[in-house]
Amino acid sequence: MFDRFTASQKPDVPEFGVVLIGAGALGSELAFQLAKCARSKVLVLDPEQLEARNLLRSRFLSQALSHEPDTDGPHCKATLLKAEAARTWKLSWNGAVSEIADTGLALLASYHVLCCCTDSALSRAETALAARLLGMPMLDCGVFGEGVSAGRVTWFATQQDAACYLCGMAENRRAQLLAYAASASLGCAAADRQNPMTGSSDAVRHTAQTAVKMLQTVQDGELPQTSTAWQLTYHAASDAWSDRPVILPRSGSCPWHDYHPGALVSLPWERPLAESLSRHATTHGDMVLQLHWPICTQAVCRNCRATAAPLHRVAWVRRRLHCSHCNGIGTLEPMSCVGAVASTDPLATCTPRQLHLPEHHLYLLRHAVAFPTPERSQDEPAP
Ligand SMILES: [Zn+2]
Ligand SMILES: [Zn+2]
Repeated sequence: MFDRFTASQKPDVPEFGVVLIGAGALGSELAFQLAKCARSKVLVLDPEQLEARNLLRSRFLSQALSHEPDTDGPHCKATLLKAEAARTWKLSWNGAVSEIADTGLALLASYHVLCCCTDSALSRAETALAARLLGMPMLDCGVFGEGVSAGRVTWFATQQDAACYLCGMAENRRAQLLAYAASASLGCAAADRQNPMTGSSDAVRHTAQTAVKMLQTVQDGELPQTSTAWQLTYHAASDAWSDRPVILPRSGSCPWHDYHPGALVSLPWERPLAESLSRHATTHGDMVLQLHWPICTQAVCRNCRATAAPLHRVAWVRRRLHCSHCNGIGTLEPMSCVGAVASTDPLATCTPRQLHLPEHHLYLLRHAVAFPTPERSQDEPAP
């Protein structure tokens, strides 16, 4: 008799996958620890090129660079770590020279945890949004200041009422950060400037080891149900580390716990949005694409007053766009931006690729709000 449960039909247990956001001192140490314990499904994300200061603070990046063939070209941290994991540990990791907000949600969804090691509040906020949209947990790691023997590992649970990264922020700071990333308001260009995260080397190592242990706990199915921060402190007298857990409360004013009713869907990358939206229209009416991060349609250069139509997300314009006239980087101020696209909007003639949205993405569609036309009463004259 035919056995329905032959080996090929057994349900696959998906390999536990970790997305590592940020490959600086702490991120690359965590990558080193993940490689050492043979974690084979890792995606490393970092948009930056390698700088001399990275080599002073990272044994994995130094080791990776020493194994690279001599070329004059710049090296990117994400691709260096991916190459080193393959060379020394025979691990086929994925690496992308990309910010988390430019990484497709469909790609992220094939992993289990988003692990953030950046020194940017904005990329933490962007990671937190991806985590909430996908219902994925986020593990956030940090160290405190030059030479300080202290670190922090924070677990953000997936439950709707569990605190997210934005919950812990003071309201004015949260408003400033979201304005920087999502609106055309002027004068908030400094919102994301932070000092690089450079703890003592023992703090970096201990924080990374704690994160790796935490990931193992998660893989073993012991998912913490509440968002919790562990403060890691070194005590010289006893030559030992302590970890004090603090439960994080959800903030009632945090905007990321109530979504627009809608569903995440994939849309063709090369097809105009108008066509894709009309294919998704239902008997209940038209659909509108709700962008996770608004797109800047017009910007002006602070230096030379030249204007541009970037069609890139707002934070990317503020941080990375080159002015084509004076060649300044980060000199363009968004003047107008779009947060949602309906099939009749001018932006709907563009494809997701033309709007610099990521490939392998998931999009939030919601029903267009249709205001019913009032019925004419019988004694009202016809127009
Ligand atoms: Zn929140
Ligand atoms: Zn300019």
